[in-house]
Amino acid sequence: MAPSGPGSVRRRCRRVLYWIPVVFISLLLGWSYYAYAIQLCIVSMENVGEQVVCLIAYHLLFAMFVWSYWKTIFTLPMNPSKEFHLSYAEKELLEREPRGEAHQEVLRRAAKDLPIYTRTMSGAIRYCDRCQLIKPDRCHHCSVCDKCILKMDHHCPWVNNCVGFSNYKFFLLFLAYSLLYCLFIAATDLQYFIKFWTNGLPDTQAKFHIMFLFFAAAMFSVSLSSLFGYHCWLVSKNKSTLEAFRSPVFRHGTDKNGFSLGFSKNMRQVFGDEKKYWLLPVFSSLGDGCSFPTCLVNQDPEQPSTPAGMNSTLKTPENHQFPAKPLRESQSHLLTDSQSWTENTANPGKGKAGMSNPALTMENET
Ligand SMILES: [Zn+2]
Ligand SMILES: [Zn+2]
Repeated sequence: MAPSGPGSVRRRCRRVLYWIPVVFISLLLGWSYYAYAIQLCIVSMENVGEQVVCLIAYHLLFAMFVWSYWKTIFTLPMNPSKEFHLSYAEKELLEREPRGEAHQEVLRRAAKDLPIYTRTMSGAIRYCDRCQLIKPDRCHHCSVCDKCILKMDHHCPWVNNCVGFSNYKFFLLFLAYSLLYCLFIAATDLQYFIKFWTNGLPDTQAKFHIMFLFFAAAMFSVSLSSLFGYHCWLVSKNKSTLEAFRSPVFRHGTDKNGFSLGFSKNMRQVFGDEKKYWLLPVFSSLGDGCSFPTCLVNQDPEQPSTPAGMNSTLKTPENHQFPAKPLRESQSHLLTDSQSWTENTANPGKGKAGMSNPALTMENET
């Protein structure tokens, strides 16, 4: 039976409240459809050619916007696979051990065959007490979803979902199409907006829709373009929003570009190899979300994916007890081309303390 009590009622109320921003965006979108397609195109436009072109282009953008928004909201975030969860015996052992070195020893043994390269700020294995699992690289615990999310970017209230490995591409397309949608509306509405102020529009209710439509489209264009620009920069550097605020810590130290493989490969990691899927909100990202190619940690001479010449440039890490597992089939091909190493400037030991942002929902690691 489901537990009921003040706590669970509060949780259910909170879950309902979380949908308010999504409802707000949907209502705004519904109104914009009515204002643009009906009031502007059908009621106010006199030129049939202009009407047809605007309506076709508008519906195309509207459909792509809704599709990518829908996919961002309803694609479940991916959680770490079974191999990252501790076994029953390991959990028992962990509970018995006091915090500290013995605790770490249990985790180290559990993590020895896992493809993890990142550590906490203090160099410990990243472990989630709440989910009782060893966190894969780039995975973080979201306090809103109360789950560990693979390649967590941020928890987005506007989609009431965590943006992470499973839906980051959809989120980017949602930003892109919503920006195009707003720019298109602002551009085609501009001449009617000017007519509004010069008293060139007939005195009907359409003129107010036309005015508010332009204001809303222009305002959202500005905020969306800065957000979209920021995420384009993140993709080009292969960073998540969380990693931009707090650089990942590898065994040799902090490296803000630790996952970057060069512009083209960074793009392909999110959008995939097949160009035909790039602009569609269908999943095409590379990898499994649990392990990520990085040139900084493949120092093990037994590593098949280590590129020639890399070993000499990197210091041997102190923790020999974690042999890095070769990358999975789906990702290792990203590392086969030697041209990708130009952007990676390793900064061993030059770690800087991560910035903290109260808006972020990632749990702190020590
Ligand atoms: Zn967790
Ligand atoms: Zn979340």
